[in-house]
Amino acid sequence: MRRFLLVTIAAAGCGWAVPAQAEWFKGNTHCHSEVSSDSSTPQEELFGWYKSNGYHFVVMTDHNRYTEAAVLDGLRYRGEVLVDDSFLIVPGEELTNGSQHINGIDIPRRLEPHASISGSFERIWEVGGLPQLNHPEYNYIEAREITEEIAELNGSMFLEVYNSHPIVVRRSGPSSEDIWDGVLSAGRRMWGVAVDDAHTLPGGETPPGGGYIWVDAESLTIPAIIDAMDRGRFYASSGAEIADFQYTSSYYEVDAPGATRIVFLGANGRVLATIEGAYGSYDIAGDEMYVRARVESPAGVAWTQPVYLSDLPDNLPPTATIEVDKATGEAPLFVTLDGRGSSDPDGEVVTWRWNFGDGTEGRGEIIAHAFTEPGDYSVELTVFDDTGEPSRATQRIRVVDGGANNGANNGANNGANNGANNGANNGANNGANNGANNGANNGVGDGNNGGTNNGVPNPPPPPATNRTASSDESCAVSPHPTAAALWRLLTRR
Ligand SMILES: [Zn+2]
Ligand SMILES: [Zn+2]
Repeated sequence: MRRFLLVTIAAAGCGWAVPAQAEWFKGNTHCHSEVSSDSSTPQEELFGWYKSNGYHFVVMTDHNRYTEAAVLDGLRYRGEVLVDDSFLIVPGEELTNGSQHINGIDIPRRLEPHASISGSFERIWEVGGLPQLNHPEYNYIEAREITEEIAELNGSMFLEVYNSHPIVVRRSGPSSEDIWDGVLSAGRRMWGVAVDDAHTLPGGETPPGGGYIWVDAESLTIPAIIDAMDRGRFYASSGAEIADFQYTSSYYEVDAPGATRIVFLGANGRVLATIEGAYGSYDIAGDEMYVRARVESPAGVAWTQPVYLSDLPDNLPPTATIEVDKATGEAPLFVTLDGRGSSDPDGEVVTWRWNFGDGTEGRGEIIAHAFTEPGDYSVELTVFDDTGEPSRATQRIRVVDGGANNGANNGANNGANNGANNGANNGANNGANNGANNGANNGVGDGNNGGTNNGVPNPPPPPATNRTASSDESCAVSPHPTAAALWRLLTRR
C-alpha cells in the first residue's frame, strides 16, 4: 500500500495521464427495453431493477430506436422518479445491422447505422457520443477487421470484452478478450467494457446484472461519467471487484480485495506476471508495448484498462542530496556523509554510491569516512532510482594540516603507539572499503612516517568507559549522528 500513497501524492502534483478521481460509480452501457423489438421489459421496470441493485447509471440502448432524455428523466418506478442524485439514465442506441452492432452512448438523437464500423463510429462522434463495438464474437468480427476499420480514426472507443448475454459467446475461435488484445497489439486504443445486454428481467433468459463497469469519476453526472470513460478511468467486471488500479512508468498496480489471482498481460495477450492474491504490482520492463490486468475471483473476472508505455510520462530522475556534519577541519578529519535527503518524485531512491575523492569508495544511505591527508576533496554521491536512473551531487571537504605544530611529539608517540593499533583496529573493524584502505594506509604510514609531519592518530577515541547500549542507540538514530557516534555504531558490528 505504500506505493499507492506515493502515487496519490505524485498524481496531485505532477498530473499523471490518468489521475485518480473522487469516487467509483457502477454502470451498464448496454441493455434493451420493450422499445426494442426483441424485448418486452417496460423501461421503468428495467431501470427500477438497476437502481435497486446498486447501479448508479445505465445507458438505454434499444436496437435502432431512441428514447428522448426528457422521457427517461421522467420515468417513475413504484411512484418515485427514477433519475435523481444517486441514479442516471444516459440516452443511447444500439446501431444494429446484419454484420455489426454498435452502441452510441450519450447521443442526442436517433442515428442510422452505417454499413461500416468506422462509418457508424464517425456518426456517433459527430453528435458528441462515444461508440462501443458490441459482442464481436457474435458478429464474427476479428481483431484484424476492427484494426483495419479504425486505423484512420481518432477518438475514444470501446469494445465489449465481456457480454453476459448467453448467445453472444462463440464456442470456438478467439474470445472477445483475445480480440481485444489483437486490436491493442496493433496499436489501436480501445477501452474494454463489460455489459449484460439484458433483454429480460431476472428470471428471464437474458437478465440484467451479469456484466458492468465501475467508473472513477469526479461526480455522478453524465459529463463526468463520460469524461472518465473517455480517459479509460474505469474497469470492466463480470463479478470481481477492484478497489483501485494505478500506474507510473515504473509499475502497474492493482488492489482487488476478494481476488484470488491477478494476471498482468502485455502485447498479444502475453502473460507478464501472475500473482496469487488480492494485490499485485508489476514492474514495467519497457518492452511490453502495453500493460493491463485481469483480476480473477470466485465471483467473476475484472479487466483493468491498458496503458501504452509510449503514453506514459518519462521517468522523472531522482535528486541526490549530501549533508555533512563538517566540511573542513584538521587532518585526520572524520566526516559523516548523509545521503538520506535524496529523493525521487515518481518512485524511490534504491542505491547510494559514494566516491570520497581520495581514491576510495563506499555504499549506503549514510556513511562515515576518515580523510587522513590534508587536501581538498570532492566527495561525489550517485543515487539511483527504481528505474536505474542516476543523479549526482558533490560536496567539498577541506582537510588542513593538523600535524605541523605537534609533529615531533605526536609523531613519535602516535607513530609508535598508534601505528600498530590503528592498523589492526581499522583493518579489522571498519568495513570493507574503509577497513582495507585505512588499515593499510594508517598502519603502514604511521609506522614508517611517525614523527615527520603527521603521525595519524586513532579514529575518534573509543569511549573511555563502556557506555550503555541505550545511549549509543540514541546516537545512532538521531537525524545527524556525530562521526564519533556513527563510528562506534559501525565498528560494533
Ligand atoms: Zn447486439
Ligand atoms: Zn444488444
